[in-house]
Amino acid sequence: MSEYKFLKQVNRAFDAAASHSRFGKGLLDQIKICNNVYRITFPLVRDDGSIKVIHGWRVEHSHHKLPTKGGIRFSTMVNEDETMALAALMTYKCAVVDVPFGGAKGGIKIDRNEYSEQEIERITRRYAYELIRKGFLGPGLDVPSPDYGTGATEMGWVLDTYRQLKSDINAEACVTGKPIPQGGVRGRTEATGRGIFFGIREACKHVEDMRELGLQPGLEGKTFVVQGLGNVGYHAAKYMSEGGARLVGVSEIEGSIYDAGGIDLEKLVKYREETGSILGFENTSELADNAAVLEAECDILIPAALENQINDSNASSIKAKILAEAANGPTTANAHDTLKEKGVLIIPDIFLNAGGVTVSYFEWLKNLSHVRFGRMEKRFEEGSYRKILNVIESNSNRSFTEKEMKELARGADEYDLVDSGLEETMINAYGELNELCKKHSIDLRTAAFLSSIEKVGIMYEQMGIFP
Ligand code: NAD
Repeated sequence: MSEYKFLKQVNRAFDAAASHSRFGKGLLDQIKICNNVYRITFPLVRDDGSIKVIHGWRVEHSHHKLPTKGGIRFSTMVNEDETMALAALMTYKCAVVDVPFGGAKGGIKIDRNEYSEQEIERITRRYAYELIRKGFLGPGLDVPSPDYGTGATEMGWVLDTYRQLKSDINAEACVTGKPIPQGGVRGRTEATGRGIFFGIREACKHVEDMRELGLQPGLEGKTFVVQGLGNVGYHAAKYMSEGGARLVGVSEIEGSIYDAGGIDLEKLVKYREETGSILGFENTSELADNAAVLEAECDILIPAALENQINDSNASSIKAKILAEAANGPTTANAHDTLKEKGVLIIPDIFLNAGGVTVSYFEWLKNLSHVRFGRMEKRFEEGSYRKILNVIESNSNRSFTEKEMKELARGADEYDLVDSGLEETMINAYGELNELCKKHSIDLRTAAFLSSIEKVGIMYEQMGIFP
């Protein structure tokens, strides 16, 4: 899909929104441009003693707020254009959900299956070292997180490398998406998928919007398909299924499957673990290839793999009424226009997958405060609720069983608070975007970019420009 320059696609969406903003060209140029682009090459000594040159990037798109924030991607498709585009999307995403960070992104161009675990650790640590050397890593500078091809283990290595080189009491806040014992926050792993569920649920609540699509309000009974069953795709599918929607199609590297009657997600995941493939799963039919699922019959299409998946070659054949962009940049600018003309409701990536960075922000706050969320108040809340329940008991003939008491008087723990903060964030942000849509007669993507441009622009207006 290299014919689609990702940054150009992002900038097209930016320009469409910028035309509705009150800012002049100079400020808009500054908001749009990538502030720092760092290209890194370093040698890796492979397990067999040979040397291999590794190529990586870190891009800080906007310094209007610090630290900058964005994932680290391990993929053969990583390149400078993609990293710049993803960094820009991070700036806009953070602004949409009021997370006080500038945008950044990193990537290493490797196929991680070709390397041993020890080699991946050496690559990750050397990359982190190169970032530290140039001031591209630190709790107040630039804070990476997991992305395609990386997870908690790599983030743990980034933290340990930072800690070996810096004496910093806030070291844990230099990276998010860490394992819990290393300062990670409960709820981060599932956060992006959970946020996607909250976002789609919000969109489906709007009676008028659903009527225009010929759908009933609510998630109950709506069919959906997912492309990519990784962290984001799996969790989005899990919460959508639990929320009453029916999973009817799935695609992974090996191909795609479809069953209008519904696919049991947990059984499918287990089946793939055992057989190495989703193909042949009970009652499902196999579609032509792994892109075919995008064109399958469904109400909601959730691309959760990579960018540019919905493009000139398939946009006109998409049957979904709602396109829920779980991946970053899954739709090219032309495809967006085609779908819009067809009347598809597009819930844009910079809003929909912002749950990950939102909970990363909560993790960063936890690390800076050096205390687990809920630790101070959980028991106090429980005690207060018990007192209220005791008053209710003494003023009525009703007495609660200990089981009821425990359920009713439960204080919030870290997971509850993170989940509640995430839900609040997604609901508020959708409300803001919906208002902008109505006010300017624009689609949700343009509204999301406009919302970001306004918020970043105001920062520059208020703080002025140095020197
Ligand atoms: P991941 O590596 O956990 O999962 C991606 C999955 O997609 C893998 O299982 C892979 O096999 C599959 N895949 C790759 N190419 C495919 C294809 N052509 N067809 C079908 N399946 C394919 O990555 P992830 O963290 O789930 O990220 C997925 C997307 O979501 C990326 O665009 C990423 O930038 C974006 N995103 C991730 C997060 C996060 O918190 N992880 C946050 C925001 C956005």
